[in-house]
Formats: sequence, C-alpha cells, structure tokens
Amino acid sequence: MSKTIRFFEQVNKNFDEAARYTDYPEGLLKQIKICNSVYHMTFPLKRDDGTIETVHAWRAEHSHHKLPTKGGIRYAANVNEDEVMALAALMTYKCAIVDVPFGGAKGGVQISTYKYSKSELERITRRYTFELVKKNFIGPGVDVPAPDYGTGAQEMSWIADTYMAMSNNELDALACVTGKPVTQGGVRGRTEATGRGVYYGIREACENAEDMKRLGLTPGLDGKTVIVQGLGNVGYHAAKFLQEGGAVIVGIAEYEGAIYNPKGLDVDTVFQQRRERGSILKVDGGEKIEETTKLLEYPCDILVPAALENQITMENVHRIQAKIIGEAANGPVTSDANKVLREKGVMIIPDMYLNAGGVTVSYFEWLKNISHVRFGRMGKRFEKRINTEMLRAIEKLTGKTFDQEIFDRIATGADEADLVNSGLEETMVNAYWEIRNIQQRHEDKIDLRTAAFIDAIEKVARSYYELGIFP
Ligand code: NAD
Repeated sequence: MSKTIRFFEQVNKNFDEAARYTDYPEGLLKQIKICNSVYHMTFPLKRDDGTIETVHAWRAEHSHHKLPTKGGIRYAANVNEDEVMALAALMTYKCAIVDVPFGGAKGGVQISTYKYSKSELERITRRYTFELVKKNFIGPGVDVPAPDYGTGAQEMSWIADTYMAMSNNELDALACVTGKPVTQGGVRGRTEATGRGVYYGIREACENAEDMKRLGLTPGLDGKTVIVQGLGNVGYHAAKFLQEGGAVIVGIAEYEGAIYNPKGLDVDTVFQQRRERGSILKVDGGEKIEETTKLLEYPCDILVPAALENQITMENVHRIQAKIIGEAANGPVTSDANKVLREKGVMIIPDMYLNAGGVTVSYFEWLKNISHVRFGRMGKRFEKRINTEMLRAIEKLTGKTFDQEIFDRIATGADEADLVNSGLEETMVNAYWEIRNIQQRHEDKIDLRTAAFIDAIEKVARSYYELGIFP
C-alpha cells in the first residue's frame, strides 16, 4: 500500500475516532467524511527544448456544505489523487475549526518544480487553470485555490490572470484565487499568515499553565527550545515569529541536511547563508547532520514539522524527545505514531488547527476582492483623529505630555496589515480555546486532535441540519 493512500485513511481514522464521541446518524457522518468530487486531468507540456511531456494534475472538492470550496495547490513529484483527497478533507475540517465559511478543496500537479524553467512552470500553471475553468472547478463562488507546497504568489498571479482572461469581465474575477501578490489583489500579511498562525497557536498552548505543568515545562514561550523541519514559507515564518516571541530555535532541517545548535540559531542568518551557499550543511556554526530526518530525534521542547506529511512514523516515534509537537505541515504524524506519542504524554497541536492561519487570511483576501476595497481605507484617518483628540484631552486634564513615541503609537489608525494580523490572532486564540474546552468537556481523556475533529464534525453537521438535508 502506498504512503499517500495511508494518508487519506489516516485522516478518516482520526475522523472515526472523534465521531465516536458524537451521536450523529451514521449517514450524516459518512456524508461529511466522503470526498464529493475529484477531477483528474492530464495535459501536454511543450518543454523549452521542444520535447513533449504529459503532466498529471488533480483538483478535489471534499465538501460543498459551504461555498466556495477552498484549498491550496501543491506542486510535488509524488502528489496523487489520494493525497489531494486527504488534504481536501483536512481543509473542510480546518475551515470549520476557524469559522471560515468555505468547504474544503485541494489541488495537485505532479511535478518537481526544480526540474522546470520559470516559463515552463508558467505554461503548466496557465494550462492547469484553463482545465479547471473548463470543468467549473474554479471561480470566486465555486472553488478558490491558494498556495501550498511548491507554489507561491507567482503561481497565484498566473492563475488569476488566466482566469480573468477567460472570464468575460466578471466583476469579482480576482477573488478566484488567494495568496496573490499585493499588487495583483492580494492582502498584506498573507505570505507569512500560516507561519504567524503557527506561532499564535503554539504561544497560546504554552501559556496554559496547567498543561505546561503536566509536561514538566514552565508557562510561556520564553526560552523554550524549538526544532523546525522545512525552511519554506510556513517553516521560515513560524521559526522567525517563534524566535521573536522568545523561543530559542536550536535546530533546522531542510531536505539536503540539518543543523543543530543547543545555544540557538538565528533564523534569518541560516536562511540567507543557505540560499547563498546552496546548502544548510554550509551554514556557519552548529552541528551538521547529513541524514536530515535524524534532527527530529534531537532534544527540544517543541518540534515543528513544517515540510511534508508522514515524517513521524512508527519507525522514529520512539526516539522523539520533544514534549510538544506543533503540526505546521499537513499530516506530519501518522495515526499509529500519534497513538504512541499520546501514550508518552506528548502534546500534539494538530495541523487542522495549527496551520489554519493561511486559509484564515485567504478568507480576508477573498473578502477584500469581493468588496473591492482595501481593509482600513474607510476608517484609518477617522480612528487616528479620534485617538489624537482623546490623547490631547488626557494631556490637558493631567497637565502632562505623552512621550512622542507612545503618542504616535496610540494615535494611529489601523491599516490593512494591522487588521489582518488582528483578525488572525483573534481567530487562532478563539479556535484554540474552543478545542481546549471540548477536551475539558471530555475530562481531558481525548487529545487536541480528537477535540479539533469533534469541533469540525459538530460545525459541519450543524450546516447540514441548517440546510434541512438531515432533519
Ligand atoms: P514550501 O514549498 O514553501 O516549503 C517546504 C520546505 O520544506 C521547502 O523549503 C523544502 O525544501 C523543504 N523540505 C522538503 N522535503 C524536506 C525534508 N524531507 N526535510 C526537511 N525539509 C524538507 O511549502 P509550504 O507552503 O511551506 O508548505 C509546507 C507544509 O505546510 C505543507 O505540508 C503544506 O501543505 C502546509 N501548509 C502550507 C500552507 C501555506 O499557506 N503555504 C498552509 C497550510 C498548510
């Protein structure tokens, strides 16, 4: 059985485990779990050297209980139908957990990005979009892709441009995809949103004194040691925000190797030196580890897998030393390994909650695109004027003057980045407590993943009841 088939089964196994704690009818649970539609396409690519290649690609829409459906597009050599179905299912549950009113979807293109030139990647992306348009698998009210592993703002920009070229002056066409560059209708804060959300989620969990005591740790993020796997979009930003929040990044793994330094690594230095020198093994200082996955077994308080699925398995789980695992990637811990970790008392902050910052800010971008106005544009000046008047009144009443720096900080109005980050923090903190409260409702006999699934099942089930499908 292939690795990826197990991934969808794992998602469903976790779902079934949580469903045992609910009393919804079997038929409804089946409907929630099933993947509604999958489109497998193949198309030819004319390579720069004139040869022709066939590209396999997919788009899976897991649940239409809310529209549009939403989910990233992954470019990876081993992506396949089962994997996109699993990831689409996780998107449904993720959106429910953070109250983003979308169904779940996911796309995949079976290519290794490094083997293709930029113009070949552009042709692949545009042709993939064309196929999605033809089959009604993309559109602001239908299905809205976003970046995932191997894709970023550039690909989203090509998708938006192709969609708009085919859309016959549709007013909301830009809302067909999120994660676009700000100049192309993107929203400030989207690039770093998933990593920032990972930081908020881990910070919130670490502030819970009761949980930290049970793990033998002190409350708060300050001084906690962290190992991060993957220095891509999610891993880099998560590591950076965790470091800024007081954690000590002691290890970073990339595909070619890893680096470990118990005294701490500077995330930006590692990132830049790796880029300049071509390998993490050439970065200054620290112990270099050629067998990259070995780093996962090194001592740390918090392990953040932020690369790919199936990284902590029955093969290495017994050697994992971390007390907290923050699942920044989708599905990094297999369900069997999850059981072992639970028995060991390790706290796992589950993917479907922890990496939901990306889809949360994608939702804000979609709102911006359909409302055709930048967040903060209407209120910023007004807020600034009111705040200034209030501060001046306080100065007059007290006869004292504020320090200029403090005055300027308080007197400001919120701009787009402030509002996006505030909305993201609010979402991640609220969702954490919703899940934690469900865990407490079950007297802490279930883990956070099961609590997150119960939360998602309850919310999706409620939608079906509201639709009148299940009386
Ligand atoms: P990315 O392509 O930007 O980065 C992934 C990084 O992992 C790359 O730097 C790659 O070299 C590295 N990597 C690959 N194999 C590795 C290995 N064996 N060991 C160590 N590093 C390895 O992708 P991303 O967008 O950061 O996505 C990472 C994970 O986060 C995926 O599971 C994705 O589904 C999930 N995710 C991403 C987003 C998002 O907004 N981008 C949102 C939610 C979840």
